[in-house]
Amino acid sequence: MINLSLEIASLRDELLAAISGVLDGGAFVLGPGVRALEEELAAWLGVRHAIGVASGTDALHLALRAAQIGPGDEVITSAFTFIATAEAIAYTGARPVFADIDSRTFNLDPDAVEAAITDRTRAILPVHLFGLPADMDRIRALAARRGLKVIEDAAQAIGASVEGRKVGSLGDLGCFSFYPTKNLGAAGDGGLVTTDDDALASRVRALREHGHQGGYRHALIGFNSRLDALQAAVLRVKLPHLDAWNTRRRDNAARYGRGLAQSGLTLPVEPPGLRHVFHQYTVRAPDRDRLRAALGAAGVGSNVYYPIGLHQQESMRHLGPPPRLPATEAATAEVLSLPMHPWLTGEEIDRICAVILSSLK
Ligand SMILES: *Cc1c(COP(=O)(O)O)cnc(C)c1O
Repeated sequence: MINLSLEIASLRDELLAAISGVLDGGAFVLGPGVRALEEELAAWLGVRHAIGVASGTDALHLALRAAQIGPGDEVITSAFTFIATAEAIAYTGARPVFADIDSRTFNLDPDAVEAAITDRTRAILPVHLFGLPADMDRIRALAARRGLKVIEDAAQAIGASVEGRKVGSLGDLGCFSFYPTKNLGAAGDGGLVTTDDDALASRVRALREHGHQGGYRHALIGFNSRLDALQAAVLRVKLPHLDAWNTRRRDNAARYGRGLAQSGLTLPVEPPGLRHVFHQYTVRAPDRDRLRAALGAAGVGSNVYYPIGLHQQESMRHLGPPPRLPATEAATAEVLSLPMHPWLTGEEIDRICAVILSSLK
């Protein structure tokens, strides 16, 4: 599915030098290396503030807290995503409200979001799933009309954009993950919150460090959620390569698209104006489990992201009877993610396509 050793091998000497630099420098948590990464990422993403935190999950949690979302509030999000999206809402005491997806893009359907708004709704939390931006034009217009915050879960989509503007710069707050398998991965956990709002940024900075506001003054109950210098050093080595890596993912996706054009499978789409960064290349197959078995028998990895909608997860039972989400439920039954990473070769993709075509015959 992914091959991290090729990514490490391609930068091994630079990574080792950066890691030794941290060991010799003696600043291990936050410090100048983290600050430098934050500045580089803010410039790269086109935002005023980028704040390093301990994980993508914490990025979502602290962003929601900074937006002062808490008990009694509702936050509308997708059920077709990784569990962390809804967990972060639950951590604040607010209620995750699941709206259905657009079955072509796998992202939130703005009409379903609008229908889910109540007097308690405070924010919309779109997920840019698999690397494709959500329909931010309509979500932002809706949020502006109803006075709601927009918090982007961009964990899978660093470098994706809408009309040239990168995700993470499109809402009030953006949240990224540097989990090792993400398009920009650390050698451990890490995350980032982005915003153009100075007040939100200073709240996130305080929240990641026990509410600290300088001089051992603590105005709010915060957390220990800091990015460490080793992760920042690894990320600074990798960041200059991210554009090229995302382009290789897109080239790989295009090759899959040519190879599978006649397969009858439903292939990923890229609506006009959006740049997809293919964290996953996810197809829909009515007979998904048989296709997955055929790939496995030929030695080809594949995975189901995600087999269960969050509305049907046991950990969300406290929310009461789950809503009916037909597009989400159909997707969980049909999706299959194929191998995707920047080091996948054309020959490998052609072979995967051949296995798929022969299994569908
Ligand atoms: C990975 C991921 C997260 C959580 O990030 P961590 O760094 O693993 O905590 C949140 N949302 C989505 C959509 C993700 O893919």
